[in-house]
Amino acid sequence: MPNKLITQENLKALVNELAASYDVFAPKRENENTVSFGKLQAFEEYVSGVLLTNTTAKDKVYLQSEQLFQYELKKDTVEFKEKAPGKEAVIFGGRPCDARGFDVIDKLFNWSGYEDGPYTGGRKNTTIITVSCEKPETTCFCTSFAGGSPADGKGSDILLTPVSGKFLAELLTERGEKLAAKYSKYFSEAGEAETAAKAEFAKAAEAKIAKKLDLAAIKKNLDASFDSFYWDTVHLPCVKCGACTYVCPTCYCFDITEKKFGYLNGERNRTWDSCMSEMFTKMAGGHNPRTDTKRRFRQRFMHKFRYHVDNFKEELCTGCGRCIRRCPVGIDIRKVVEDAK
Ligand code: SF4
Ligand code: SF4
Repeated sequence: MPNKLITQENLKALVNELAASYDVFAPKRENENTVSFGKLQAFEEYVSGVLLTNTTAKDKVYLQSEQLFQYELKKDTVEFKEKAPGKEAVIFGGRPCDARGFDVIDKLFNWSGYEDGPYTGGRKNTTIITVSCEKPETTCFCTSFAGGSPADGKGSDILLTPVSGKFLAELLTERGEKLAAKYSKYFSEAGEAETAAKAEFAKAAEAKIAKKLDLAAIKKNLDASFDSFYWDTVHLPCVKCGACTYVCPTCYCFDITEKKFGYLNGERNRTWDSCMSEMFTKMAGGHNPRTDTKRRFRQRFMHKFRYHVDNFKEELCTGCGRCIRRCPVGIDIRKVVEDAK
């Protein structure tokens, strides 16, 4: 697909115009210490320098708590009322690891012939415009994953990379092409020089990533370490807060609850849940296969780097490093999986 160029001034005008017709979510200051994805009224609210927002953009598509449908019992049938699709949205200014997170969970919510309507509906309604990272954080490890890079476009509709005082805009999907065509007045054609500059940018940014995991060795060790003594001690500092799962762009576990309005009608809701919570695996009869922190802790790493690889041929992780930064006791996912044996 063709590459375009957009100037800083035109990007500002584009975002302002988008905000008039779409819900535009971008890194925005919540308070003195926190930048999260929030709804932009104007470009000025966008905080451009932050790589790791407090939470990811995932919750703009996969809502933390949402109604799935309402139901009403009729004489011979049950009538369902599906949630109406939301306004078209643009997620602007996220990073390649956030966009890749969507690519990973897209496969889960549309798997084995089952399509999750609320999630896929939100995805079809959302255009993702990502910005490449020039200076990765010390906790970033995106290059560990196949094709992962601070300038990788996987999961993005448009990837913006700063080159020669402008942005190279790679139109990576039909949705991205359509948006660029609709607002074509803001874009110009990119030449070979800018495309070459993007390749140089990516090379330089990748070289700044401090840690690259050997995923094949990790998988092999995890395959053999389920009953290892390793798990008896590595989990001990964990305080079971679940922060690591709530900030993750690829964690997707949820709980389902029913709310009854009357005798014949009610609604079904979905709310994020965490494998680090004791209640997560508690069954209706009272049995809980993961009663202790060790089992829950082991599950998180086994799921991300072993079971998910068996099922989907890729890790359930994009190397964003958020769980490392948010863990109150300093647990580093890179070290946990590298040391497992
Ligand atoms: S597991 Fe940690 S590093 Fe991997 S995607 Fe989730 S938050 Fe990011
Ligand atoms: S953030 Fe750290 S302490 Fe909290 S549940 Fe995750 S690993 Fe445990």
